[in-house]
Amino acid sequence: KHSNSKWKLKQSVLRTVAVNKPVAQETILIVDDEKTIRTVLSCFLNDIANVHTASDGKMAVAAAVELMPNLILLDISMPDMDGYEVCRRLKEIPQTSQIPIIFITGNDSSDDEERGLAMGAVDFIKKPCSPSVVRFRVTNVLRLHQIQRELEHLAATDPLTGTNNRRQFMMVGQTEFLRSRRYKNPLSILMMDIDDFKSINDNYGHGTGDEALKMAVNTFTSALRAEDTLGRLGGEEFAALLPESGIESACVLAERLRAAIGAAVLDTSEGSVSFTVSIGVSELKDDDDDILSVLGRADKLLYAAKENGRDRVEYTGR
Ligand code: GH3
Ligand code: MG
Ligand code: MG
Repeated sequence: KHSNSKWKLKQSVLRTVAVNKPVAQETILIVDDEKTIRTVLSCFLNDIANVHTASDGKMAVAAAVELMPNLILLDISMPDMDGYEVCRRLKEIPQTSQIPIIFITGNDSSDDEERGLAMGAVDFIKKPCSPSVVRFRVTNVLRLHQIQRELEHLAATDPLTGTNNRRQFMMVGQTEFLRSRRYKNPLSILMMDIDDFKSINDNYGHGTGDEALKMAVNTFTSALRAEDTLGRLGGEEFAALLPESGIESACVLAERLRAAIGAAVLDTSEGSVSFTVSIGVSELKDDDDDILSVLGRADKLLYAAKENGRDRVEYTGR
């Protein structure tokens, strides 16, 4: 009778977990050299995520790189390559370094627990483990990691247009600046500001102004190459980072953007709206200290483009 009521409790716990399961279909990689453990854990988890398994350390690293799972359950004691070594390698590979790892161990050793957590594991489960505890811990980690990814995305993105915000653009910019320095590759920046944007707001309203900004981002994005980075630096001001581009190819691209914006038309209930853009182009120079130096020059040239009549590209040679 007693065991029956306990079983009922377990069932209700399992149902709670199922209700709270992550919305998106997530992928879990289970790594254990024992087939029984792999099978049992898969059974515990296959209704809250896509479950894949690996039976040794080498397979685990390869599977993690290929699958990019949202979570890895990692056995510590395995022949050849143990769980610690798998963890160390995964933390070394940039793509897999952020994947949360939960260690699983049969040893009742707090040294193992401490070592695992010190290596960056998010949690630690001791075998034998109850299904509901495994499910709770896994669900917690999946949900926290999902929230973390959402926050990272929000912190990097302009909410209106979906393009990179200033902060993210600057971060990518500084990384590209250092890369160009190291490999002595060219790097150029375009500063772009929509012309007389205030009149769009004044004539058609703020909502249409917002739509115009979204259209500008779509137009820029289609005209840029995959390796370029677009950012909204503020109001109606944008910048593009062009790796591997010297001033000549940057000017060709800037001219293409200027023409594309001039040709784009936004249909509204009050008729079609079109606008133009002014662009300043500058290239990385040997004595630039950081990406802000390049950006500052492009900004001055943008100002010159405005002074010289708008709807134009300004640049300086080397
Ligand atoms: P210029 O050709 O010299 O660049 O003139 P401009 O009117 O484009 O420049 P100004 O800086 O005078 O005005 C920019 C306007 O952009 C003012 C501001 O209200 C508007 N703006 C900034 N952010 C947004 C936004 O998110 N949505 C809308 N609809 N308007 C915005
Ligand atoms: Mg403007
Ligand atoms: Mg402006």
